Amino acid sequence: MRRAEAVREAERMLREAGITEAALDAKYLFFHVTGLNQMELLLYGQEELEEVQYSRYQQLLVRRAAHEPLQYLTGEQEFMGLTFRVNPAVLIPRQDTECLVEEVMKYASGKRILDVCTGSGCIAVSLAKLAKPEQVTACDLSEAALAVARENAKLLEAEIAFKQGDLFEPIEEIYDIIVSNPPYICTAEVRRLMPEVREHEPWMALDGAEDGLTFYRRITAEARRYLKPQGMLFFEIGCEQAEAVHGLMQKQGFGNIVVKKDYAGLDRVVYGTLE
Ligand code: GLN
Repeated sequence: MRRAEAVREAERMLREAGITEAALDAKYLFFHVTGLNQMELLLYGQEELEEVQYSRYQQLLVRRAAHEPLQYLTGEQEFMGLTFRVNPAVLIPRQDTECLVEEVMKYASGKRILDVCTGSGCIAVSLAKLAKPEQVTACDLSEAALAVARENAKLLEAEIAFKQGDLFEPIEEIYDIIVSNPPYICTAEVRRLMPEVREHEPWMALDGAEDGLTFYRRITAEARRYLKPQGMLFFEIGCEQAEAVHGLMQKQGFGNIVVKKDYAGLDRVVYGTLE
């Protein structure tokens, strides 16, 4: 089959399976399998698609039609202009989280930073690469996630100290900045998310228990032991959690609390300073 025709056929198949971005996904998977780009598809679309590539393409299309996220099929996701490796052990980095990184970057130069619940390592690695911190430590409960984060740090040449454990359990030093994008969706709501997320992304990275605030409660309560005086705590939050997280931080002795919106105009980041 010719290349252009294979892409058209793929688009039809994904659309019939109810994939919203059928045309885009058909192309991305084609580029992934063939190593060609948009320009080459336009120029050489009438050439035959090699047999091996065709069957590899079909395998991935079947998985995408079953709502596996595109990024787990290609194995990567862009974040802060960097390419991160991903697999089903980690949450796929979201654009929302770039707002968190951008806020932290304003304060991060020359600082010691701790990223709690690092997942793919997208926050820790971006900060290490882009913000000139003195040092970055990142922790996660999941060994499988840490393996991905370590690979990302290596591929992107970021120096990070990784620790495995439950929140602060493996942490022994103190920091200027603690940052976290913890699981924050309430259990009932995780069940209602799109199948790509609900059935394929790690439940553990999404589920913030009954009211979605469990990790904010634990992290704000424990953070001061790992922060220098005037240290800062940064969170990504769900768009309806600003007030609750603001309250939790205040209760634990944080002041100058700021809420920032994401590009969609929704509350997305909360941070404050230890008083
Ligand atoms: N910190 C990681 C991210 O922002 C993982 C977040 C999570 O697992 N909840 O992608």
